[in-house]
Amino acid sequence: MSEITLTELEKRYGETTAVEDVSVEIRDGELLCLLGPSGSGKSTTLRMIAGLETPTSGEITLAGADVTDQPAYERNTSTVFQDWALFPHKTVLENVAFGLKMRDVPKEERRERAEAMLERVQMGGYGDEDPTTLSGGQKQRVALARSLAVNPDVLLLDEPLSNLDKRLREDMQIELREIHEDLEETFVHVTHDQDEAFTLADRIGIMDQGELIQVGEPTEVYENP
Ligand code: ADP
Ligand code: ADP
Repeated sequence: MSEITLTELEKRYGETTAVEDVSVEIRDGELLCLLGPSGSGKSTTLRMIAGLETPTSGEITLAGADVTDQPAYERNTSTVFQDWALFPHKTVLENVAFGLKMRDVPKEERRERAEAMLERVQMGGYGDEDPTTLSGGQKQRVALARSLAVNPDVLLLDEPLSNLDKRLREDMQIELREIHEDLEETFVHVTHDQDEAFTLADRIGIMDQGELIQVGEPTEVYENP
């Protein structure tokens, strides 16, 4: 069973067609990168999977259920954004535990799960810190831990590494790949960076002017660019 299916998905904003006739089956546990230039519809596609945008037409299923009209908070997806969006008045640990609190997980379990996830992203020991004092890479690790702490069925990543400098970005690509291999969850990762897609992806979906023009393993799309 596919974890996510998109069927003839379309999103229009007035005269602009942001996404046009996108159909793809994203497999349970795979890491799919949506790769394409700025304005090609990657982010809009991701936001429709998250439920942050409503499609103009087409259908979305998650784990076999039609979620096309389901609001974001009822979908078991979690999104990591480019600008990390941490809560500035909460500690690092409170940030990571936030989604668990919303789900009424008891306090002690929240702390344990949040601490374990901070360890996983190499931020163990930072729980009591003020997130505004962290570096960009550290903030993005905390944002990743916060999204993963709720055990989403699907993790959606919208250019999560694009604000980091090149060296850190390359390190974090490898870390993200390792985290994905550990967790075996479905990841959909949006990027305009071809090297990033080739480092991370099980499969790459190439987007151009709102359309998904090719989907395949990195070697396949590389041979037929
Ligand atoms: P990408 O993520 O590949 O950069 P986007 O999905 O952000 O592309 O945007 C695709 C197209 O849709 C662009 O032309 C963009 O300007 C347009 N678009 C995206 N969001 C909106 C919006 N809220 N209102 C109007 N146009 C939008
Ligand atoms: P990305 O490329 O990561 O999608 P954008 O800068 O394109 O980032 O979009 C950021 C926000 O601005 C999104 O919420 C999107 O819906 C909105 N947006 C993008 N393009 C337009 C547009 N042409 N008109 C209105 N809103 C837009």
